[in-house]
Amino acid sequence: MAAVNAAREILRRLHEVMAGRAGAEAKLGQVVRIVAQELSSEVASIYLLRDGMLELYATQGLAQAAVHVTRLSMGQGLVGIIAQTREPLNLAEARAHPDFAYRPETGEENYHSFAGVPIVRREAAIGVLGVQHREPRDYDDVEIEALQTVAMVLAELIHGAGLVDDAQAARVRAASSGPVRLPGMKLVDGLGRGVAVFHQPRVVVEHTVADDVEVERARVYAAFAKMREQIDSMMGQAEFTAGSDHHEVLETYKMFAYDEGWGRRINEAIETGLTAEAAIERVQARTRARMRSIDDPYLRERLTDLDDLSNRLLRIVSGQLGTAAALGLQGDTILIARNLGPAELLEYDRRILKGVVLEEGSLTAHVIIVARAMGVPVLGRVRDLFAQVAEGDELIVDASNGALLVRPVAATILSYEAMSGLKARRAESFALVKDLPATSRDGVRIAIHMNAGLAEDAAAIDVTGADGIGLFRTEFQFLVSATLPRRERQQALYEKVLDAAGSRPVVFRTVDIGGDKAVPYLLDGREPEENPAMGWRALRLALGRAGLMKVQARALLEAGAGRQLNVMFPMVSEPWEFAEAKALVEAQRALLHRQGHRLPESVRYGAMIEVPALIETLDTLLPMTDFVSVGTNDLTQFLFAADRANPRLADRYDWLSPAILRVLRRIARAASAAGVPATVCGEMGGRPLEALALMALGIDALSITPSGVGPIKAMVRSANLLPLRAAMGQWLDAPGVDIRAVLTEAAVAQGVELG
Ligand code: PEP
Ligand code: MG
Repeated sequence: MAAVNAAREILRRLHEVMAGRAGAEAKLGQVVRIVAQELSSEVASIYLLRDGMLELYATQGLAQAAVHVTRLSMGQGLVGIIAQTREPLNLAEARAHPDFAYRPETGEENYHSFAGVPIVRREAAIGVLGVQHREPRDYDDVEIEALQTVAMVLAELIHGAGLVDDAQAARVRAASSGPVRLPGMKLVDGLGRGVAVFHQPRVVVEHTVADDVEVERARVYAAFAKMREQIDSMMGQAEFTAGSDHHEVLETYKMFAYDEGWGRRINEAIETGLTAEAAIERVQARTRARMRSIDDPYLRERLTDLDDLSNRLLRIVSGQLGTAAALGLQGDTILIARNLGPAELLEYDRRILKGVVLEEGSLTAHVIIVARAMGVPVLGRVRDLFAQVAEGDELIVDASNGALLVRPVAATILSYEAMSGLKARRAESFALVKDLPATSRDGVRIAIHMNAGLAEDAAAIDVTGADGIGLFRTEFQFLVSATLPRRERQQALYEKVLDAAGSRPVVFRTVDIGGDKAVPYLLDGREPEENPAMGWRALRLALGRAGLMKVQARALLEAGAGRQLNVMFPMVSEPWEFAEAKALVEAQRALLHRQGHRLPESVRYGAMIEVPALIETLDTLLPMTDFVSVGTNDLTQFLFAADRANPRLADRYDWLSPAILRVLRRIARAASAAGVPATVCGEMGGRPLEALALMALGIDALSITPSGVGPIKAMVRSANLLPLRAAMGQWLDAPGVDIRAVLTEAAVAQGVELG
């Protein structure tokens, strides 16, 4: 309690200083006197970052003649080290430290011990507060904490008085932090450069000293209650954080949210006279310091969770709830997030969003599919992301090489520019084959369609040279809307897509909502599902809400007037579901006909094959369909019982495993025997080796991500498919063949362009 009292007394006196009428410089003079008195130290000094140097700005105990004269650069002397590392120093014998830089003008030769803390604003050091004693002594934790509290208040005072230029401080911080290369997993290929923006912006604490402790206490209580409520409701709503290991993270969140120790520490900080925001940040700084000193990865992760939760609490208490999308992006941006949902990503302006970096993330999560549609490179599973990157840092996302380059040096930027030039030339070489057919060297014609979900990516069809749009994910429009899109809006979108495709075919998939594509306005107050990927989603939801499906059917039929319309149903599990969905659309068609509307010239109906059970009943299904398309993202998830959005499972199972390839062969054979065209529209088909495997299975139509069209076409045009078809049959019939290895070997021997 003595500690609380000491801190409280300092803050009480600082409060008076802050409220006083003196000028900023005089106030800093008062602050050093208070610190010296309260900590019984002979010296207390404040250094401020001015013109890139740390300048002695106020002192009690050192020679006054040294004020504004003594200047140290970042990293120079003890003060420079504290500013550079943004960590406190606590030394019984300052001179024994290798970085000690003696400044005769200060008269500091009389002092032995030294303790200093950084003064930080927006994660950049803007100064240093230090104390010195004649006697060699270690400072105890309570004293260091008191200094840190004073430093927080000083940050507010210094900023308010405009004594330090924030932007310059950020530049100095970036320059002195140096470049870092963080490894990650390529989720969407590409290269991008921009400034780090946090999806959940860090709250900048503007007021540190409380006017009324009781008011602050009440604010923190209310914020805790709200946070617990949010977490409890997230717990019941597993789809909340798309693509995350939700449950485990939420369990940890819950544990911390109800942890008395955390709440107590914040309350103690409030007791000393800090505002709610400052108290939360004070305690958070302690957690961060612990994080830096812990090696155990599990514990570190838990502390990261606590850090995340502190940010959430800060946002609640300060009322700063908007994401970076709501605040608007300023220039070329690399978005930093722990994880994102597809709808959240769609809120960003894709013209200046140059890349996304996630601490989590997995290849087939819908947010990744959306990013691919937006043409934004994504790097996932970057550890220590938030510890290493600060808002405003310059970043290069090199997803192709699985790396995030933080604060790159000039040479790295040059090589980035060279790489983007190379990519552009590679894109040019794809452009050369754009108008040529995807025909293999031995004459097999492969149809390469593209996947789309937005008007903009559908419009890119001409650039890609795709043969058509093989999967238009209509639910994207639902995901970006705050309310159910009206029929007119749906129809307008479908017309745009058909116009963009011109004479090329478009397959519209009816809404696939649910799973990791949650649409809040369609929850209708239902209990959140425990297992949404296998729950009330896609066709199940659509058939259950026939009104919704009827509206979409009308929008499609009217948009397709006078043209051919291809409608595909997602997540068909049993043939009767397909029959029912088709009947529903047909009924709308008959109705429109009776009402005298113009109709499509023909309507073709297709089923997605993504539920394993359907494969057992293909003999019943196929005769009802005009075409089928295999959704390998979901099919793989259900075959392996492996959540497609769970980062831990992301590369556990191989798309080239015999299990998947045998199933796909079975589908291809059944469809061919029934005379029903079969395509593959999952992400698998967008990867050259996987696509080659599909072709070797006899699949001759793919629908893939737009950026894959060029590379896959180039791959097909360089391959001899017939020998691979024969070989694939043998590999699949024999047990234990490593198909990735043998196929790669065969492809390399043929000189196939695998990218
Ligand atoms: C699939 O599941 O493979 C598919 C193409 O559909 P989506 O990724 O939209 O679920
Ligand atoms: Mg699917």
